[in-house]
Amino acid sequence: MKRTPLNRRTELRVVSPLQRGKPLSRGREGGTGTDGPAPRPAKRVKATGPDAATRRLVLDRADGCCEICGVLIHDGDGWVGEHSFHHRRPRRMGGSSDPATNRPSNLLLICGSATSPAGCHLLVESQRALALGNGWLLHAEQNPTLEPVELAVTPPAHRTWLKDDGVITVADGTNT
Ligand SMILES: [Zn+2]
Repeated sequence: MKRTPLNRRTELRVVSPLQRGKPLSRGREGGTGTDGPAPRPAKRVKATGPDAATRRLVLDRADGCCEICGVLIHDGDGWVGEHSFHHRRPRRMGGSSDPATNRPSNLLLICGSATSPAGCHLLVESQRALALGNGWLLHAEQNPTLEPVELAVTPPAHRTWLKDDGVITVADGTNT
């Protein structure tokens, strides 16, 4: 009689961890169900650049060429050179709190990139006065849709503006 209870105690001790394990796994499953939405916020990424649709719009507007110097950087199938989506009015610290930052009017597809300093990216970075004069860079208070920009496709003696629908508007420089 005494051995039987001892055996049972031993069995119980063996069973106990298993029983504890089951409630634990059930608890986790339940927890996952209850906290299902919780992991999703962790996947949020601070989007500081233009979305895919906007990049596509700008790429089409540029016809695959650097919008400042005109060199081909996308042949329709893929990138053939260093490139970057340049913000005319720079992003402020902390990312894109202003949605206008990533609108087509504020973006230029240019050759060169921050990781490969060359081409027009380097030009804009190194010659601020020139960049401001040509509308490649804007001050914080300037509206990208209202400020003319000198593009590779800008006809001589004309001025061009970028709209948010991807259209480039052209006007005779003498009329503006
Ligand atoms: Zn260029």
